[in-house]
Amino acid sequence: MCLICDRIEMIKNGTNPYFVKELETGYAVIGDNQHFYGYTLFLYKHHGNKTELFHLDDKERALFMKEMTIVAEAASKAFGAEKMNYELLGMGDAHLHWHLYPRRSGDIGEYGNHGKGPVWWYPMEKMYSDENRPDDRQLEDMKKKLLTELEKLL
Ligand SMILES: [Zn+2]
Repeated sequence: MCLICDRIEMIKNGTNPYFVKELETGYAVIGDNQHFYGYTLFLYKHHGNKTELFHLDDKERALFMKEMTIVAEAASKAFGAEKMNYELLGMGDAHLHWHLYPRRSGDIGEYGNHGKGPVWWYPMEKMYSDENRPDDRQLEDMKKKLLTELEKLL
């Protein structure tokens, strides 16, 4: 069982409220929690035994990276980032998926190195608090903004 596969199944069934756009190698979705406003993910289409970038052949990896970069640029423009942060981790779900965070000065408060550092130096309980979940209207607004910028770049 893999959360990313479940979410992709929901996209295919038309029941994933966070889904924005299908690209050739993956799906762009809005993140569940929005402490970092504009947090977006790019989910690789396949799982199986392809759980590392070095498992993909050169052509597939190049396209996956290119499309991730396009999604990041769209998120940066749609949500007004000072700097984008890119993370591909996988200790929760090994399924290849990019976390794309629009960052702004002060967004981790005084946590980290006096307010500087990666998103995961902000406390997990705060980052994943239900208070940071967009309501339906906010989610629709974010999806529209991201899709608009994506379509300009595709
Ligand atoms: Zn999976």
